[in-house]
Amino acid sequence: MLEISKYRNIEISKQCSMYKEVLDYSLLAHNTFGIDAKCSRFLEYASVEDAQEIAKHLASPYLLIGSGSNLLLTVDFPGTVVHSALRGIECVSDTLVRCGSGEVWDDVVAWCIDNGLYGAENLSLIPGEVGASAVQNIGAYGAEVKDLIKSVEAVEIGTGKLCVFSREECQYGYRDSRFKHEWKNRYLITHVTYQLTTDDSERRLDYGNIRSELERRGITQPTAKQLRQVVIDIREAKLPDPKVMGNAGSFFMNPVVERSKYEQLLAEYPEMPHYYIDADHEKIPAGWMIDQCGWKGRSLGPAGVHDRQALVLVNRGGATGADIVALCRQIQHDVREKFGIEIHPEVNII
Ligand SMILES: Cc1cc2nc3c(=O)[nH]c(=O)nc-3n(C[C@H](O)[C@H](O)[C@H](O)COP(=O)(O)OP(=O)(O)OC[C@H]3O[C@@H](n4cnc5c(N)ncnc54)[C@H](O)[C@@H]3O)c2cc1C
Repeated sequence: MLEISKYRNIEISKQCSMYKEVLDYSLLAHNTFGIDAKCSRFLEYASVEDAQEIAKHLASPYLLIGSGSNLLLTVDFPGTVVHSALRGIECVSDTLVRCGSGEVWDDVVAWCIDNGLYGAENLSLIPGEVGASAVQNIGAYGAEVKDLIKSVEAVEIGTGKLCVFSREECQYGYRDSRFKHEWKNRYLITHVTYQLTTDDSERRLDYGNIRSELERRGITQPTAKQLRQVVIDIREAKLPDPKVMGNAGSFFMNPVVERSKYEQLLAEYPEMPHYYIDADHEKIPAGWMIDQCGWKGRSLGPAGVHDRQALVLVNRGGATGADIVALCRQIQHDVREKFGIEIHPEVNII
C-alpha cells in the first residue's frame, strides 16, 4: 500500500486541484522489471487541472512514467517521478474513443470490442498505459497504434498550457514519435483519442502465427473477440508474464544495416532472417543474433535471457538494474564480436 505523506490543495481560479505527492517513494510497483529503486518525490495527477498545476511547478530532474513496462531503473532517481492516474474511456462520437492517459491500454482494447468498435484487436495485451501508447507508437501483429490515434491532449511543462496534437504532428515512426525526440520531457499527456471502426469485416490475420492458430481452432472468420483471444494466447505462450518474471518485453532494437554488410553476413549465414527496408538497407532481428551467440535461456547472475524469446531479458529473481545492464553489455559485446553489428537497447535505462 502507498503511504501518502502529503496532499497538495491548490486553488486554480474556481476549481480545486488535488494531486498526490509522496516523498522517498519505492517504484517497485511502477516497473515491470521488478526493480526496487526509489525516487525522491512521486507526483500523480488524476485530472487535467492537477496536470496543469504539476506542469507549472515541475523542476528538473524529473521522469515521466506510465506503468514502467519499457523502463529499466539502475539507480534511485534523485528527482520527481510523475505519473498519470487520469482515468476514463468515453465515446465522443460513433467511432471516436477518448481515454485518460492513466487507463491501462489493454482495458481500452477490451472496452472497444465490448462496445462494437474494432481495429485494436491485434494490439491486445501489450502492457502499459494510454499515455505511453501515444509516445511509443506501440505495435504488434501488423498493427500500430498510430493508425488509430486521432489526437493527443497534453499539458506543456513549464507553462501548464493545454495542447491538442493531431496524429501528423506527433510524427509517428516505428516505435517512435516526436515525444521521444524534440518533445521529450516537454508534455504531460492527459488524453488520447482513438479512431475505431464499426466495420467488423476487416481483420489482419496474416501476421505471426495468427492464421495457423485460428485454423488449429477451426475458425475461418473470427469475430473481434476471437481474434483478441488468439492474440492473447499467442502472446502468453511466447512472452514471460512480468508478474511472474520481471521483464520489459523486447530489450533491444532490431538493427538496420547497410546492404553491403547484410550481403557479407548472408554469405556466412545463409539461414539469417532479414527484412527489406530500402535499396540500401536491411533489418536483421537482434533476437536471432543473440540466439546465435548462445545466449537464449542463459543467465549472468540473477539476470537472464528468456528461453523462448532471445530478445527479452528477464529478472530471474532479485536482480538489480545493474545486473540487467551487465547482461546487456555482455550481449552487446558478443554480438559485436560475432557479427560486427552494434545493437542498442529499446528500453529506457535510467
Ligand atoms: C511483456 C512485455 C511485452 C511487450 N510487448 C510489446 C509489444 O508487443 N509492442 C510494443 O510496442 N511494446 C511492447 N512492450 C513495451 C511496452 O509495453 C510499451 O512500450 C508500452 O507503451 C509502455 O507503456 P508504459 O505505460 O509502461 O510506459 P513507460 O514504460 O512507463 O513509459 C514509456 C514512455 O512513455 C512516456 N510516458 C508515459 N506516460 C506518459 C504521460 N502520461 N505523459 C508523457 N509521457 C509519458 C515515458 O516518459 C516513456 O518515455 C512490451 C513490454 C512487456 C513488459
